[in-house]
Amino acid sequence: MVSSLGKGIAAASLAAILEARGLRITMMKLDPYINVDPGTMSPFQHGEVYVTDDGAETDLDLGHYERFVRTRLTRKNSVTTGRIYEEVIRKERRGDYLGGTVQVIPHITDEIKRCIDAATEGFDVGLVEIGGTVGDIESLPFLEAIRQIRTERGPDQAIFMHLTLVPYIAAAGELKTKPTQHSVKELRSIGIQPDILLCRSEKPLPDGERRKIALFTNVHEKAVISCVDVDNIYKLPLWLHSQHLDEIVVERLRLESQVKPADLSEWEAVVDAVEHPVDEVTIAVVGKYVDHQDAYKSLGEALRHGGLRQRTKVRLKWLESEQVEYEGAAALSGVDAILVPGGFGDRGFEGKVLTAKHARENRIPYFGICYGMQAAVVDVARHIAGLTGANTTENDRRCEHPVIGLITEWRTATGEVERRSEESDLGGTMRLGLQECRLKHGTKAREMYGKDVVAERHRHRYEFNNRYRTQIEDAGLVISAKSMDDLLVEMIELPDHPWFVACQAHPEFLSTPRDGHPLFIGFIRAAREHKAGGRLLKEVSA
Ligand code: GLN
Repeated sequence: MVSSLGKGIAAASLAAILEARGLRITMMKLDPYINVDPGTMSPFQHGEVYVTDDGAETDLDLGHYERFVRTRLTRKNSVTTGRIYEEVIRKERRGDYLGGTVQVIPHITDEIKRCIDAATEGFDVGLVEIGGTVGDIESLPFLEAIRQIRTERGPDQAIFMHLTLVPYIAAAGELKTKPTQHSVKELRSIGIQPDILLCRSEKPLPDGERRKIALFTNVHEKAVISCVDVDNIYKLPLWLHSQHLDEIVVERLRLESQVKPADLSEWEAVVDAVEHPVDEVTIAVVGKYVDHQDAYKSLGEALRHGGLRQRTKVRLKWLESEQVEYEGAAALSGVDAILVPGGFGDRGFEGKVLTAKHARENRIPYFGICYGMQAAVVDVARHIAGLTGANTTENDRRCEHPVIGLITEWRTATGEVERRSEESDLGGTMRLGLQECRLKHGTKAREMYGKDVVAERHRHRYEFNNRYRTQIEDAGLVISAKSMDDLLVEMIELPDHPWFVACQAHPEFLSTPRDGHPLFIGFIRAAREHKAGGRLLKEVSA
């Protein structure tokens, strides 16, 4: 009905309950915009670009899905109008339509249905979220496609759930149901009768309003679900279960014989850890898109998850790295640890280097992710290794010491790196998706992960320049992980610092509220220790 209502989180919460009932669940996002994927969209406009194992650059809703269900998603689970048209036009050029006129119905809608089938095949239930709002021109083909699916396959094979807003008008002291009535009317005019309404409101929906909505929208009264604002999104599965949402879905889809009672104990533990913290830390996140926190969605979540595992409330202090350039280290005062996240381009990069230097010199826990690792390497190169002109070629192509550069820029004479850059598209394009790396024994990274080989998701173009490995290692930086072929630096740390760890990948994409992530758990622990004046803390478990 309006954007930002939380369709993604609502869908993911339902998925979490269905998973807890023993069903195999997958989720999918259909985005009506014409970009082929969000990879090229500005984080200011579109929020974070979420990366899957297979390297798809997707909508941030996929991040919510993966935090709520255990199924790992791929490029199949995120489809845009651009992708659909790209495929239909390719088929048309190839002559697949045998000279027929290519139209929105059936060709575009068939392609949408094909994508839905491809993503949901092999699962008991697939939850397909359509982005945008009812009434948008762009979303019509998607709505038409799901209408057809229901007609073709029957009401026990496909059901419709619509999320609406029931605004509270303070002056009248009333919740208003009219916008919901209108939105459903609009849906019905294109042939979609919702089976379930999730009514988002500030306060629980009173029975009178629920009845009124049911009457006007032709939805069964018990399927008008009150979806109240929650202070913590991980409460939503519990709340929706208390409203019997999963029961309605199971009944409508005739899944009774396949389900067990919902076991939501893991979600109860998450909520309990959020509500009963025993400690609290403040983390500075020094980045570039801090006014727009959706740009760091997974990062904020991963930090909180790291806290949950030790019952620690994590407060985030978002800082523009340019502020560190103007104000110096004063901008960083009063925090227990510092994180520099991923980013692109030169605006604010020097502030990130200064931030790494400040954390290093003052023994404040530092976590560098992707650009944050590159900034830490530049700091160590400039200020310890004596390579004053060190930089990343992303910001200064002709710098004296390109300690970070495109792989094609620092080919070595051994030929090994050369071969690799020809085999893959590493040079000049993004290195994307899950990549394995080997951890070095005796490092903090190895200790936190507790295994030799780990895989993390990547999204970057530039790399630690191997030509400077020896000089930078001699300056005291330890390379704690390398790619499996030993060619690329994946993680670094400073051994004589309480916690200075950085990685080229984006571990935030693999953190979940139920499990957390070893690096984030270690980082929050280091923040707690820093706050406690460096004392080692007793284990607290969630
Ligand atoms: N801009 C850097 C690169 O492309 C870092 C990217 C990132 O932080 N995701 O290598």
